[in-house]
Amino acid sequence: MSERVYMVDGSVAHELQWGCSPNNSAAPALCGRQPWPGDWYGTGSQTEYDRAAELPLCGGCQQILRHQAGGASP
Ligand SMILES: [Zn+2]
Repeated sequence: MSERVYMVDGSVAHELQWGCSPNNSAAPALCGRQPWPGDWYGTGSQTEYDRAAELPLCGGCQQILRHQAGGASP
């Protein structure tokens, strides 16, 4: 399972790469972003879960998720 996370001042959410911990600030999202020197948020409390769910997913992460879910494009 991947985790939906966001940066502290982020206006979008990201999907972490599989096996990456949201507690690791060097853990990259699917789009390659890292929160370093900050941290990922979104898994620490119910408030953070809610915020991560409300934020729109970043375009780069969306593309990769769609690619993985849909397989080959026409
Ligand atoms: Zn992203």
